[in-house]
Amino acid sequence: MREFAEPYRHGWRESIQVRALLYDGQSAFQHLQVLDTVPFGRLLVLDDACQTSEADEYTYHEMLVHVPMMAHPDPKRVLVIGGGDGGALRRVLEYPVEQATMVEIDGEVVRVSRELLPGIAGDAFEHPRGELIIGDGVKYLRETTEHFDVILVDSTDPVGPAVDLFNEEFYRNAQRAIGDNGIIVTQSGSPLVMLDELIAAVKQLCSVFPIVKTYLACVPIYPGVLWSFTAASNNLDPAAVDPARIAARLRANGKPTGWYTPEIHRAAFALPNFLTAALGIQTADEPSALPLPISGE
Ligand code: SAM
Repeated sequence: MREFAEPYRHGWRESIQVRALLYDGQSAFQHLQVLDTVPFGRLLVLDDACQTSEADEYTYHEMLVHVPMMAHPDPKRVLVIGGGDGGALRRVLEYPVEQATMVEIDGEVVRVSRELLPGIAGDAFEHPRGELIIGDGVKYLRETTEHFDVILVDSTDPVGPAVDLFNEEFYRNAQRAIGDNGIIVTQSGSPLVMLDELIAAVKQLCSVFPIVKTYLACVPIYPGVLWSFTAASNNLDPAAVDPARIAARLRANGKPTGWYTPEIHRAAFALPNFLTAALGIQTADEPSALPLPISGE
């Protein structure tokens, strides 16, 4: 294999130079590959979709984790759904949490990541305050009686086993588990080439939570590079966090960040006009459509 590219979306794709295919296997849920690439080092691919890489993993994981963790005043119990590579769990464990539980449906993703991408999880899977459950996050959240301060949905895109991680029933169960003072964040896809999926996730979240806010980051391996996350809560406004308090908590964690800063936290919630219009449900009663930067098929 000399190069890897996800399928075209709207006539556009990015291609990555590959040095070697390090792993190629099929689990009960998906096709797993680990590639040694020129720009990103080792890259995890599931069902032809880039998941995480050694070089750029921090851009995604820091924004998925730090934004909701900082939006909560004192998160003690955290649930990660998906996240088989361990990068999200590792960031959660930088905080003084009592327990971080990760529910990943595919044990093969964890096994292969631990073997071939060990730097992404660090010691998260051996951490005394970390708990790994191999199981379906949808079923787990439906059945659990536990309370969580923060829920992170670090899932694959809404296909296959991840479809039900984006629907109203799942978000209602999340709401029950986080109560009035908790917060949930989901990765919500590319605003440029997966806008329909982002709009669908936001709509479902809005049908359950009074506060729903989308924020952005750049994740080079993902289609379109520009990526979205959406946070929802009954009471916490994830955009209204005191930068000085963020800085103090980052210092207390004692782990340097490569992307996330107090200023980035606030700036990430600034959306371009076309997106505000497309997600009008969040910000305006009568949204008007604006031209999209990619015209489509
Ligand atoms: N950062 C990635 C992205 O946005 O492309 C996600 C990384 S992580 C590897 C995604 C994980 O979600 C996969 O390992 C997949 O097995 C897991 N997953 C998908 N559906 C799930 C479900 N219903 N319950 C738990 N984990 C699930």
